[in-house]
Amino acid sequence: MLLENPVQNQWLDHPLFEEKEVEVAIKRLDLIHPVISGNKFYKLNYNLEEALKTNKNIILTFGGAYSNHISAVALAAKVAGLKSIGIIRGEKVMPLNPTLEEAESNGMHLHFISRESYRNKTQPDFMEELKSQFDDFYLIPEGGTNALAIQGTNEILKETDSIFSHIFTPIGTGGTFAGLSKSLEKGQNLLGVSSLKGKFIHSEIENLLTQYDISPKGNFKILDQYHFGGYAKYNQELIEFIWSFFEDFGIILDPIYTSKMAFAAWDLVATNHFSKGSKILLLHTGGLQGNKGFTNRTGIKLPDFSE
Ligand SMILES: *Cc1c(COP(=O)(O)O)cnc(C)c1O
Repeated sequence: MLLENPVQNQWLDHPLFEEKEVEVAIKRLDLIHPVISGNKFYKLNYNLEEALKTNKNIILTFGGAYSNHISAVALAAKVAGLKSIGIIRGEKVMPLNPTLEEAESNGMHLHFISRESYRNKTQPDFMEELKSQFDDFYLIPEGGTNALAIQGTNEILKETDSIFSHIFTPIGTGGTFAGLSKSLEKGQNLLGVSSLKGKFIHSEIENLLTQYDISPKGNFKILDQYHFGGYAKYNQELIEFIWSFFEDFGIILDPIYTSKMAFAAWDLVATNHFSKGSKILLLHTGGLQGNKGFTNRTGIKLPDFSE
């Protein structure tokens, strides 16, 4: 449905990796498309196909005001020739932040609801209300995780990636992690770095694996100690890590997901978590559309494309 640019793995040379005798590469899912980037591309692809197949011409989904998912759905729907509606958590604030402004300019109808109604968004009453308010739509849940999303993220790893002993991915809802775990080879290790604070993510992932009947051939582990205070939280060390990563490799990370994942990888290599000869693949899941909004919100400058 959406066109995938060929995704490259890029080897990262760094004195730390030389010292520890490990090899590290990064899969540049961020380059698939500037907005429908990274894992969101894979999560949406089969959903759009299904919407078209079932003759729905509106996609409806949910998200926060800076959501990569909202941004990706707006553009992906436009590319597919579909309308889109974004149910946004919280009051409408003018001027719109860069994420919402771009979503709107891509044709998404933004519908703001209170935080309280947002919490009830999966209740049947609320769904009925939406159905009466908007024409027949194809529903994509918040964060985009459903069976077709997992079918999509199961295609991120290619046969040639079987050379890697360890694969790192960030975790939000866990949909990407679940799809990846399905495609693991025997002996491969998937390490998911949760961007959210709390232990709930362990049972969340267990639920996804059960719900979608996934029994990974490889090993998987969820790291819940690299959240930097929780979702969208950060500290100076993380910001400095983003800058040094950019200076070393010319690759931009985002402060919500990919920087926490890469930070975790660095930390575990530095503390001798990997045996010599390990081949480690980091998934750059994208999310860079959010950097502008982050800077607006916090005043903290991040590397950007215009430099
Ligand atoms: C949405 C997102 C994630 C999280 O994906 P899940 O499938 O929800 O776990 C990770 N990285 C980036 C850049 C994202 O936008």
